[in-house]
Amino acid sequence: MIFDILTIFPDLLDSPLNESIIRRAREADQVQIGITNIRDFATDKHSMTDDRPFGGGEGMVMKPEPLTAALESVKAKNGPGRVILLSPQGRQYNQAIALELSRQKHLILICGRYEGVDERFRAESVDDEISIGDYILTGGELAAMVIVDSVTRLLPGVLGCSDSAEKDTFSRQLLKHPQYTRPRKFGESEIPEILLSGDHAKIEQYRFLESVRRTMKRRPDLLLKEFGSFSKAEVKFLKKHQLYSRIKELLEGQ
Ligand code: SAM
Repeated sequence: MIFDILTIFPDLLDSPLNESIIRRAREADQVQIGITNIRDFATDKHSMTDDRPFGGGEGMVMKPEPLTAALESVKAKNGPGRVILLSPQGRQYNQAIALELSRQKHLILICGRYEGVDERFRAESVDDEISIGDYILTGGELAAMVIVDSVTRLLPGVLGCSDSAEKDTFSRQLLKHPQYTRPRKFGESEIPEILLSGDHAKIEQYRFLESVRRTMKRRPDLLLKEFGSFSKAEVKFLKKHQLYSRIKELLEGQ
């Protein structure tokens, strides 16, 4: 997978791309990440990448020529790719989109600044627009990092333990069960006894139930999406623990 990130603040990306899992994935060539400074493609003597909006109004708008030239340069180097503009007006990012993007070979992420990019660049060169949530960031760099991080951990071989991504919250529409580590007793609080039993099947069942309970309490909207996907064994198990009818009631109350 190749990521190309286009930005006017390349230094902002330095640390997140050079630590932990992303650094190891880069070193192992599981992911290549190129950073292109849009300013290098400015044509005037002051290296301007933004200008005042036509029609007046506040703020500045990113000029289309440096953006287009920067985009053409990464396409010339790494081939065509899916061009994604980070934008609060885009489709809202989630784990399903992360999975969809992890199947691409080349992602080109454009980080906006100021009031955003000239509409003609957006219309002509952008394939997809992604928002990381209903709030306004000062620029697209942090949003690009969210995408690079969440997509990279889904790439084959990137996570040490092959099933950790599969069991993450959102791999199904279920929140992850509570987790415990040493010490066994913390203050007055002890870990659930079942986790010490060594009975892996029972531990899995316990974790599944805790996942369902937690999702029911915190994110019933997710649980309702998952309802049709429970296996026969899971349905039987939920019925045994009087949870199936409660989920059904929730569904009917929608
Ligand atoms: N004036 C713009 C508007 O109201 O839509 C917001 C511009 S924002 C200050 C500057 C840049 O930050 C945007 O062009 C975009 O690249 C990025 N950005 C801001 N919020 C974002 C979000 N929620 N998700 C993704 N990118 C965002």
